Amino acid sequence: MNNFQIAALPHLEACAIINDMAKAPTAAEKDRMDRLSRSGCVVCRISHGSYVDGEIQHLTAGGRRLGHRYTICLCAWHHRSVPAGSVSPAEMRRIYGPSFAESRKEFEASFGSEEHLLDETDKWLGVPKVKRDVVDNDPKAAD
Ligand SMILES: [Zn+2]
Repeated sequence: MNNFQIAALPHLEACAIINDMAKAPTAAEKDRMDRLSRSGCVVCRISHGSYVDGEIQHLTAGGRRLGHRYTICLCAWHHRSVPAGSVSPAEMRRIYGPSFAESRKEFEASFGSEEHLLDETDKWLGVPKVKRDVVDNDPKAAD
């Protein structure tokens, strides 16, 4: 697959636009991203032992989204506060806990930091831990 075909993938294309990233993902990053997008929500897996389709969330540092390697998979509820079917947001919160979009603080208090979920994701995918220098230098992490 060449760079143009990779760039045609909706998620990666969106990332390139949003992050203004000129660099296409490496083969290893693309392989991880493909498997990640099929791995289901990391929170639902850990908290409820269930598979729920998910979407990719990029970790941030200093208010900027990090690269393709710093990504986890969250369901629509845990990522963007989108309830399942006709279930109300209050009921979703009661059953599944807080969503990242509603309150990062409550989300991380319930499920661990994004970095913790990244480690759990990498364990699940069987890939080595990512270098943490960028994440560890996040000024917000010291709060
Ligand atoms: Zn979930």
